[in-house]
Amino acid sequence: MNSFNLNTIFKSLKTKAEWFSLREVFESTNTHVARDGNPEANYSNSTHGVMIEILINGQLGYSATNELTLQGLQNAINKAEFFALNASKYSLVKFDTSIRPINSGNYKSNAKNNINEISIPEINNLLVSSNQYLKHSDRIICTTGFAMMVDSKHKYICSNGSNIEQDFQFISLDFSATGQHNGNIQKRTDHGMLARSYQIGTEFILDTNIKERCQKIGEQADELLFAEECPTGEMDLVLAPDQMMLQIHESVGHPLEVDRILGDERNYAGWSFIRMDDFNNLQYGSNLMNITFDPTVNQQFASYKFDDSGLEAKKDYIIKDGVLIKGLGGTESQFRSKLDGVANFRSSSWNRPPIDRMANLNLEPGASSFNEIISNIENGVYMESNKSWSIDDYRNKFQFGCEYGKLIENGEITKTLRNPNYRGITTPFWNKLKSVGDESTFKIYGTPYCGKGEPNQIIRVGHASPVCHFENIDVFGGN
Ligand SMILES: [Zn+2]
Repeated sequence: MNSFNLNTIFKSLKTKAEWFSLREVFESTNTHVARDGNPEANYSNSTHGVMIEILINGQLGYSATNELTLQGLQNAINKAEFFALNASKYSLVKFDTSIRPINSGNYKSNAKNNINEISIPEINNLLVSSNQYLKHSDRIICTTGFAMMVDSKHKYICSNGSNIEQDFQFISLDFSATGQHNGNIQKRTDHGMLARSYQIGTEFILDTNIKERCQKIGEQADELLFAEECPTGEMDLVLAPDQMMLQIHESVGHPLEVDRILGDERNYAGWSFIRMDDFNNLQYGSNLMNITFDPTVNQQFASYKFDDSGLEAKKDYIIKDGVLIKGLGGTESQFRSKLDGVANFRSSSWNRPPIDRMANLNLEPGASSFNEIISNIENGVYMESNKSWSIDDYRNKFQFGCEYGKLIENGEITKTLRNPNYRGITTPFWNKLKSVGDESTFKIYGTPYCGKGEPNQIIRVGHASPVCHFENIDVFGGN
């Protein structure tokens, strides 16, 4: 970061707004890719700017700039005023200052080593070395190693006295092997593309047991080339946490974003099947379903102390014993909907205004061990790692595919299955949740790539889940 000082400039800015804030974001990203044992890409980029938000006549105005001088920020504030004053003639909602709470504090990712502490040759050697372990046989036609490391510093100062500083360090690490045999192509990744995304230091990369991890990925990609096709029919379904992540994201997270329920995304990423009167009424899933919004989990990808409205983040039940009790709505959505919400008002960078996002959305562990779950199933399929997904605009009807399956027969895991898929309708599906794995089956994942909003905002989310068992699900094979 340069010598730009947000606090000093803040005091010199002039505005007639009843409330205003500055949100500074500096982010630097280093990405490294190795393919088939060769370094393929090493690139880095950084971005640094300030978003100005103001409130005039109950209307918010925004203007962002990367001209980080007093004049640059004053010009931006003048623009934001102009936009707010003009837009206020046509406001659908008149906000007041309650939508920007007063808070001060700091947050820092729990990272031992900074991303600058690993050299480019060091990380290249590590990713290149993955090839020898991923290439289980000559049938493996492509291997990749991928690491993305992000340093992200956020400052937020408001005319109401809020003063927040948050320092994040994000790392995503992935390996993959693609095999081919007699026209059949199968790919195995490290728990689904980039699912191993955490707020952590480079110790995560250096401590990874790359040999064992990559040997298993390569072996399973090869194994899938000779596996039977997943059977088709109604049967029991057991999902590993790395597929539960996608199940939670698409069929719980997105439909419960309150701005989506209010119709803001209707012409773009879609609406939601949820209506306002579903809160505190709808039996979303079986009574084993407990979903929490939890930005407090150590090292989970979307943990933070304050969202971008300055609201303090805490753990909250969204679905309790299967009943929908809360939406994923930040301060503005709470004001508009008159519903309780959570601290999930987030922006992807300095040049975007915050909107309702998921952050960490987790399924709480239950009481069953993995063996207990399997031993109670006569006929079913166990599926790991998301491969494909499709869900309608209302987030209701879906069809998901996984990389790797296992047949469950008479209480035991037997053959490996390729191309395992399943489909369902959101609430009937979750109401078929028959058993939830205990703490020993609980795993934390995340993704850097949740997209929403116009203009688009790609944001980081985290999902943690135990293994889950659903009964009488429509399962099918094929690509
Ligand atoms: Zn998403």
